[in-house]
Amino acid sequence: MRTTAQWQAADAAHFLHPFTDHGALARQGARIITRADGIYLWDSDGRRILDAMSGLWCVNAGYGQRALIDAAAKQLAELPFYNAFFQTATPPAIELAELLAEVSPPQFQHVFFTGSGSEGNDTVLRMVRRYWQLLGQPQRQVVISRINAYHGSTIAGASLGGMSAMHAQGGLPIPGIVHIEQPHGWLHGRPAGLDREAFGLQAAAWLEHKIVELGADRVAAFIGEPVQGAGGVIVPPASYWPEVQRICDRHGILLVSDEVICGFGRTGRWFGCETMGARPDLMTFAKGVTSGYVPLGGVLVGERVARVLIERGGEFAHGYTYSGHPVACAVGAANIRLLRELGVVERVHADLGPYLAEQFAALAAHPLVGEAQICGLMGALQLVRDPASGAPFPAELEFGMVCRSHCFANGLVMRAVGDRMIVAPPLVITRAQIDEMVALIRRCLDLSLDDARRNRWLG
Ligand SMILES: *Cc1c(COP(=O)(O)O)cnc(C)c1O
Repeated sequence: MRTTAQWQAADAAHFLHPFTDHGALARQGARIITRADGIYLWDSDGRRILDAMSGLWCVNAGYGQRALIDAAAKQLAELPFYNAFFQTATPPAIELAELLAEVSPPQFQHVFFTGSGSEGNDTVLRMVRRYWQLLGQPQRQVVISRINAYHGSTIAGASLGGMSAMHAQGGLPIPGIVHIEQPHGWLHGRPAGLDREAFGLQAAAWLEHKIVELGADRVAAFIGEPVQGAGGVIVPPASYWPEVQRICDRHGILLVSDEVICGFGRTGRWFGCETMGARPDLMTFAKGVTSGYVPLGGVLVGERVARVLIERGGEFAHGYTYSGHPVACAVGAANIRLLRELGVVERVHADLGPYLAEQFAALAAHPLVGEAQICGLMGALQLVRDPASGAPFPAELEFGMVCRSHCFANGLVMRAVGDRMIVAPPLVITRAQIDEMVALIRRCLDLSLDDARRNRWLG
C-alpha cells in the first residue's frame, strides 16, 4: 500500500478532479479516502470521518450494503453488458423500469435510462422539444429554469443550471434557456420582511411574469429541483410548488422536477415533488437510485409525454451506450428493494427527519447561525456575523471554508456553499448517530466562533 504522500503525488501528476482548482490542490494534496462502512469513511491515514454528505448526496442506503454488492457481482458474472438499442433489452433494465413505476407517482409508467444526472437533463431538453414538435408546436422551445439551480455539468446541464460561475466559462447558457430568481427566502424575504408563505407566492409569480414576457406559446417547460441542493439546500416555502404547478397548468407548460438529489427518500417521500405538492410531467433522477454504488441516471416520463412519444413518435433519435446498463440497473433494483425492506423512506418521514429538525432548531440559537433549514434528511445552517440583523460575513473571508476546515479536522464531512453549511447524511443513519453528527457540528461552530472573535470578524 502506498503512503498518503505517494498517493497525493501521483494524484497531482495525473488526475484532473472535477470542479477543482488544480494548482491549489497540487500544493495542498488531496484527501485520500480508502474505505467506508455505514455512515463512516476512513482516509489513507486510518482516520474515521462521519460522512454527513452521503458521498455527494448519493449514498442513501449507506456504505457496505451486502445486497447491493452481491447484485453487482452476480450481474457482472452473468451479463456485464448488453445494449438496449436495436430492439433488445436485459432483465435488470426491465425490472428496474418496473420498480421505478411502482415507487413513483401514478402518472409515471415509463423511464428513459442514462448514465448520470447531467445526461438525464440533456435528455429532458431534447425530449420536451421533441414533444412539442410532435404536437405541431415546434416554436415551443424555451425552457425556464432558476438562478442558482444545479442541473449538471454537460453543456445542456450547465445551461439549464443557474450557476453564474459555470455560465462564465464558455459562453453559456445555450439559446432557448432562460432563468428566473430562486425562492430563497433568506436572500429575498428577509430584507422585505415578507411573510414566508406570501414570499413563496411572490417567487412563483416570477415564473408567470417570465412566461407572459416570452409568450406562453414559446415556452416548452419549467425545470426545478424540489429543494435546491448544490445551491445551498434552499427549502422553498410550502406555498411555492403548488403555485408553480397551477401556473404551468394554466399555460399548458410541462413541469420537470429534477429529483437527482431529492429522489429516493431524501425529503421523506420517494420523490421530492411529493413532499412539495407538485405533479411533474418529467422527473430527472440519478445519485440515490443506486445509492451511488455504480453510475446510473434517467428520466421518468409521465404519461402526458410518453403517450405522444410512443403513439406519434417514430424514432426518438437519442440514447446512450449505457442506457439501461445491466450492472447499474441490477444495483438500482437491489437498492430500491433494500430501501423498501428497511422502511427507510417512511422512517425519514416519520422519525429521523423530524428528529434532525429538532436538533437543527436548537442549533439555530448558536451565535453564528442566522437560519437553520431542514427538509427530510437535508439541511442548511446560514452562518452570519450577526443573527439579529442577518448581517453576513464579508465574502472575501470565505467564512464557510473556515468552518469546513474545522469539520475535516474533527472527523466530519459537511459542505460549505458560500456561508451556508449543508448536510445530507445517509438515510440509514440512526438517532444516536444524528446526535453524534450534531455534536460534531456544534463543536465546529464553536471553533469557528472562536476564530471569528479572535480575528475580530464579528464587527
Ligand atoms: C448532481 C446533480 C445533477 C447532475 O448529476 P451528475 O450525475 O453529476 O451528472 C443534476 N441535477 C441535480 C439536482 C444534481 O444534484
